[in-house]
Amino acid sequence: MDLRTLILLLSTLTAVVMLLSSYFASYRVQRQLLIDHALESNRVYAAKLASITELFLQNALKQLAYSAHGLPGTLGNSAALTQETERVLAQGNAFNSTFVVDSQGVLRGISPAPLRGLVGQRLSSPGALEALGERRPMVSAPFISAAGNLVVVASQPIFAEDGRYLGYIGGSLYLRQHNVLEKLLGEHFYQDGSYLYVVDAHRRMLYHPDPKRIGMLIETNDLINQLHSRGNGVQQVVNSFGVEMLAGFATVPIAGWGIVAQQPLAKTLAPTQRLILDVVELSVPLALLAGIAIWWLALTIARPLWELAAGARALDLPDTQERIHKVRAWYFEAAELKRALLLGLKLLHERIGRLHQDAQTDPLTGLGNRRRLDFSLSLLQADDRAFCAIVLDIDHFKRVNDQHGHEVGDQVLRALAGLMRTCCREGDVLCRTGGEEFLMLLPGASLEVAIAVAERLRRVVQETPIEPVGAVTVSLGVARWSGGEQDPLMVLGDADRALYLAKQNGRNQVQVSEA
Ligand code: GH3
Ligand code: MG
Ligand code: MG
Repeated sequence: MDLRTLILLLSTLTAVVMLLSSYFASYRVQRQLLIDHALESNRVYAAKLASITELFLQNALKQLAYSAHGLPGTLGNSAALTQETERVLAQGNAFNSTFVVDSQGVLRGISPAPLRGLVGQRLSSPGALEALGERRPMVSAPFISAAGNLVVVASQPIFAEDGRYLGYIGGSLYLRQHNVLEKLLGEHFYQDGSYLYVVDAHRRMLYHPDPKRIGMLIETNDLINQLHSRGNGVQQVVNSFGVEMLAGFATVPIAGWGIVAQQPLAKTLAPTQRLILDVVELSVPLALLAGIAIWWLALTIARPLWELAAGARALDLPDTQERIHKVRAWYFEAAELKRALLLGLKLLHERIGRLHQDAQTDPLTGLGNRRRLDFSLSLLQADDRAFCAIVLDIDHFKRVNDQHGHEVGDQVLRALAGLMRTCCREGDVLCRTGGEEFLMLLPGASLEVAIAVAERLRRVVQETPIEPVGAVTVSLGVARWSGGEQDPLMVLGDADRALYLAKQNGRNQVQVSEA
C-alpha cells in the first residue's frame, strides 16, 4: 500500500466518521427539539383551552346565579318560568337547554319548547339528583338526560329569603351534538394528526373528535391517572391504538375536567428525515470537493517521496545528483530526506573518488602506478592524442641499497620522484612502473621537447645530492606515439629499448627510440 492510498484511506475514514457523527448529532438534536417543542406547544394549547373553558363555565354559572336570585317569587308561575328559562337560553347561547327544578326534583319549567312535555315529571337522572343533593353551584358529571341526550349540567341552587332550599336552575350542555364546548374545542383540528380530548374527574370522555368515544370510560391511561394531581404538564404516551403521542394537558378546576392536546410522535418527527436528506444533499458536494482536494494533497505529499526513492534506486547514474536536486521537497520530512540523500551521495562520491585515486597511486612516492599508466594510455588513445614517453632507471641502484640499506634506497626513490615533478608540466603523467624504474608521459609533446625534458631531468638528478647517498644518476629512453592504429604499449617497449641502449652506452644519458 502506498502513502497516497494510506492518506486517502485515513482521510476518507475520518470524513465518514465525522459526517456520520454530525448527521447523528444533528438528527438527535433536531429530534429532541421537535419533541420538546411539540410537547410544550401542546401544553400551552391545552392550558389556553382550559382557561377559556373555565371562564366559559364560570360565566355560565354566573348567568344561572343571576337568574336563581330572581326565581324564588315565580316558582309557582309556570308561564314566568318558561319565560325565564327562555331568556337564559337565548341570552348567553351557552346552553342547549335551561330548566328549573323544585326542591322535590320535579321539573317546573324548561326551554327550548320541544322539551316542555317533560314539565311536571320528577327527574331521576344522576345529574339531576346530584344537583338536588349538593345544593351548591356545580357542574355535573356527564349523564343521559330525561330527553335521552348525553349531557353535563351546570346548576345554581335557589334559596328563599329565609334560607329554605327551593330547588335549582340548570343549564345542560349536550356532549354529542353541536354546542359551545364543541365550538371551543373542536375547531382547532390540525392536519398533522394532532387532536384533543376532554375527560371529567371520573375518567369519562366529555369531548373527542371521534363522537363514538364521547361518554366512554377510559380504563387505563397513564396520563389521565396523573391529570388531576399534576394540574398541567407534558407527557409522552401511547394512545389506545398503540400510537406514540406527545401530549400536553391542563385542567379546568371549576368542573374537574382535564384537557389533553396531543400529536403523533411519528408525524412530529417526519421533518427530521427531510432534515437528514437536506444535510446529506448539502454535504455531499462539499465532501466530494474535499475528497478531490485530499486526493490532490495526497499526491503532492507522496510525489517528492517517490522521486527521492527513484533517485536513491539509481545512485550510480551520472545525473542522479541533479535529479535529486530538482525534487521539490516542500515539507519538512521530505526536505530532510532530500538533504540526507544529497549528503550521502556526496560522501559516496568522495569516498569512491578517494578509492579511485588510491587505487592508481604508488604509496611510496605518491606518483601514479601501473593502473594510472594504463588508464592514462587508454585516455590518450581514445582522444587520439600524440604523446612522448620517457622511461628512466636509476644507475647502480643495487649498490645504494647494499651500502646504505633499503630504507635509504626508498628515500632516494622518493627524492627522485620529487625531482621528476619539478621537471614536468601540468598534464604530464608521472608513474613508478617498477622497483626503481619510472615513466613520464608528455601528452602533445614533440620528440624534441621530450628529449629536452629528459636531458634536463638527467642533469638535475646528477647535480642534486640526496643525503646520505650523494648524487645518483639515471639513464633515460625516449619514444613518441603519433596516434593512429599503433598500440601505445608498443611505444613503451621502444622507450625501454632506448633505455637499454643508454645503459649499454655507459649510463647517465638519454637515448631516443629510432622507431
Ligand atoms: P643498473 O645500472 O644496471 O640499473 O644497475 P642496478 O643496480 O640499478 O640494477 P637493477 O636496476 O637491475 O637493480 C634493481 C635493484 O633495485 C634491485 C633492488 O635491490 C633495488 N630495488 C628494487 N625495488 C626497490 C625498492 O622498492 N626499494 C629499494 N630500496 N630498492 C629497490
Ligand atoms: Mg632496474
Ligand atoms: Mg637500475
